Amino acid sequence: MSAPSASVSAPAPSPSASGTPSSAALEPAVPFIEIEGLRTEQFIPAAKEALSSLIAEQAQGKLIRPVFNWAGRNSLFPLHWGLACCAIEFASAFGARFDAERFGIVPRSSPRQCDLLIVNGTVTWKVAHKLITLYEQMPEPKWVIAMGNCATGGGPFRTAYSVVPGVDKLVPVDIYIAGCPPRPEALLDGILKLEELIRERGE
Ligand code: SF4
Repeated sequence: MSAPSASVSAPAPSPSASGTPSSAALEPAVPFIEIEGLRTEQFIPAAKEALSSLIAEQAQGKLIRPVFNWAGRNSLFPLHWGLACCAIEFASAFGARFDAERFGIVPRSSPRQCDLLIVNGTVTWKVAHKLITLYEQMPEPKWVIAMGNCATGGGPFRTAYSVVPGVDKLVPVDIYIAGCPPRPEALLDGILKLEELIRERGE
């Protein structure tokens, strides 16, 4: 009795709908070396992309960001805006005697050119939405100083129905300056403290 012979036949290429074999079926099986080549082709661009984004991230963290931080904190542009009696001290700080511009602080009249909002007076609920609009029109990064007791917590008008008990109820405040009113030197001190804060935050 003869042993049954095993026969393995190669799979025939499947004909396409038109009757001719499809191009995928005609292609030989991919050798191992080609698979390795394919992996390399995919790996090198991916590695290049990852490396360049890492370098860009490092450059941004170690070079660009500190330069922007240094330039930004030494050239603060406060909004040219006054609310009440503290605004007189604000104006005085930019006069010849106190000369705030020697610190690179230049008031601008458009919120779109400003990065510092100095709230220098009593904030009423009537003006609150305008203050928020001005703040939102300022580009990032931006900072807020509450100058004087009124801006900090309502001051002598804290219990009045029409007064906001602190501008931090409306916008985030970075520096508070006490006084009724604070002198121009106190405003300059507050701005220098803000510069230190910006340096620490690295923004
Ligand atoms: S803190 Fe005093 S000086 Fe300043 S706005 Fe209020 S009341 Fe006027």
